[in-house]
Amino acid sequence: MRRKILEKELARKGIISQAVKEVSKKENLEPEYVSRKVAEGKIVILKHKNKFLGIGEGLRTKVNANIGTSPDVCDINFEIEKLKTAEKYGTDTVMDLSIGGNIDEIRKKIIQKSNVPVGTVPIYQSAIESIEEKGGIVNMDEDKIFEVIEKHAKDGVSFATVHCGVNLKAVERLKKNPRKSLVVSRGGAFLIMWMVSNEKENPLYKNFDRLIEIARKYDLVLSLGDGLRPGGLIDSTDSSQIEELLTLGELTKYAWENDVQVIIEGPGHIPINEIETNVQLEKKICNGAPFYVLGPIVCDIAPGYDHITSAIGGAIASWKGADFLCYVTPSEHLSLPGIEEVAEGVISARIAAHVGDIGKGIKGAIEIDFLMDIARTQRRWEEEKKIAIDKEKFEKLRKKFPLKEKDVCTMCGKYCAIKLIEKYLGIKVVC
Ligand code: SF4
Repeated sequence: MRRKILEKELARKGIISQAVKEVSKKENLEPEYVSRKVAEGKIVILKHKNKFLGIGEGLRTKVNANIGTSPDVCDINFEIEKLKTAEKYGTDTVMDLSIGGNIDEIRKKIIQKSNVPVGTVPIYQSAIESIEEKGGIVNMDEDKIFEVIEKHAKDGVSFATVHCGVNLKAVERLKKNPRKSLVVSRGGAFLIMWMVSNEKENPLYKNFDRLIEIARKYDLVLSLGDGLRPGGLIDSTDSSQIEELLTLGELTKYAWENDVQVIIEGPGHIPINEIETNVQLEKKICNGAPFYVLGPIVCDIAPGYDHITSAIGGAIASWKGADFLCYVTPSEHLSLPGIEEVAEGVISARIAAHVGDIGKGIKGAIEIDFLMDIARTQRRWEEEKKIAIDKEKFEKLRKKFPLKEKDVCTMCGKYCAIKLIEKYLGIKVVC
């Protein structure tokens, strides 16, 4: 069988692939630029059903929506509905984080039904099946971890979170510098339990070569997970988080030497004044690898509104150079999200991404706002709705109270400032 030519390898050899052509077209950029950045590792390309999505430097900031079952709420149709809701509101990717029910069946169905690239966290399945098969997560076979990763890749998963940076050194640092928020990454916690009980190194770190082999076989993008991300502002940017990031930086270089595409996850709960530093650290230590930020959640006192706390953090992170935002829903810290929370999560993250794109000068980003500005001045409501991120909400609120005059809204009615100025200054804004 002929060896699969990897996306990064093609770019490194200066070959403009179909994937690069498609990403360049969508992003309105030169293929040579995209290809160069893929070769440098600063852009990754996810593939899903012959469609391609670029994430990284100079590209529009992308948004991910997490879906998936839990042991308490497990309904595959509900998850598919969440997938379709996330797609409807414009998510760029979804991650299936299922930990309840038939995980294989759920993943396959999500991949089959999804129109966007799908990511997973395979360690969840390895850990949960080890409880059933061997009586506990701590009894998990090292081989099992890699077998599950390969199974996911074979099923068509585009990117996988792998917590390779949670190594013994990082655990030692965590013990010496105890945290108040402990560890909030599920994958990170599973691996630490296993490492401590077995007094062994994290297999994903120790046998990184084996992971590289799988990633090369399927051109799977590795999302190097942040198992030690702070779970509260009280632990932000602490030594355990930085220890893990240093390891991820080293692993990134090694992955690149093997033409494996990598994104870096981080940093969880971070106060607003530490976001820029965190983005700079990731970009410096990981040589510009795309940064996939979870949140960042910028305050801890707003449960029920964490889509807002994370959109604030996401907007700043994106402006400062983050490339990929993982949505946070209003259910964060409270429950599994439902349909409505998925919609709110995606919309909030998309707003954050767009705000960041305006800040970092992404081609075409601010121009959309200019179109809205003109449509608003001209009170072309249909045009405004077309441009709006959430068209349904636009429609709903526009019709909330009966309109006395059709070309204004019920905020100022006949005292519409724009209309008054149009009349008294005789200015008609045309585009
Ligand atoms: S009525 Fe007031 S809020 Fe509404 S379009 Fe006119 S100026 Fe804007």
